Amino acid sequence: LLTLRDVWVEFGDKIVLEKINLDVAAGSFVSIVGPSGAGKSSLLRLVLGQEAPTRGTISLDGAVLPPECGPDRGVVFQRYSVFPHLTALQNTVFGLECAQSPLLARLFGRARRAAQDEATAMLEAVGLADALHLYPAQMSGGMQQRLAIAQALLKRPRILLLDEPFGALDPGIRADMHVLIRRLWREHALTVIMVTHDIREAFSLGTRVLALDKRRHDPHAPHRYGATVVYDLPLRPREDAPP
Ligand code: ATP
Ligand code: MG
Repeated sequence: LLTLRDVWVEFGDKIVLEKINLDVAAGSFVSIVGPSGAGKSSLLRLVLGQEAPTRGTISLDGAVLPPECGPDRGVVFQRYSVFPHLTALQNTVFGLECAQSPLLARLFGRARRAAQDEATAMLEAVGLADALHLYPAQMSGGMQQRLAIAQALLKRPRILLLDEPFGALDPGIRADMHVLIRRLWREHALTVIMVTHDIREAFSLGTRVLALDKRRHDPHAPHRYGATVVYDLPLRPREDAPP
């Protein structure tokens, strides 16, 4: 589905991602772990199209990725993915209108009603049926992330990108969110790429776990310090798991 070939991201002489090669299969759930500053968010921004690689190519189904965020990708960040001055329903309808044609939506009340219906259905699907008219400030962190997920999914993305989506949530709420995201992944036939600092979350949700790490400092090539390597971690059954 998604292919990165010899992809570099550099800022001046600072190498953030060095020669990354990666194939992401359709329908997989890829967890990405790694230390702070390893380049995890940079990698997501590349896939999202918010940033262009300085070298190399990213392709989707064999076609080189267009630079702007297309409707085939949706994203949820740890926080601040939603507009504070709009209710849950308004947030979602707004997201939908941006994904479709905003002009059409404004011209025809019918389109707006359809958008409202679609937005309401999506909010119900993420468990926010009773929160349609709440503002983000009136919602818990978990509810705000549910709203962000609803917004991302309304674009009908094939790839859902999650950057530490549950990092700010309590453990109990996180567990609920894991159930939700796993269900949405299946129901919407998504390919998910999720960055997380929680290694257990990475393995429990992921069908594949990638570790990004900085290349070891090489005194003969000091400018290389800071570059990133990607490891595929083996998915093994837990030794303490019940038979
Ligand atoms: P964290 O776990 O803290 O979120 P991360 O793995 O997501 O870290 P990135 O945000 O991708 O890390 O940043 C990787 C490196 O790239 C950092 O050293 C950062 O300073 C650098 N970087 C990111 N954006 C820029 C930029 N616009 N200009 C210069 N350096 C940048
Ligand atoms: Mg980050």
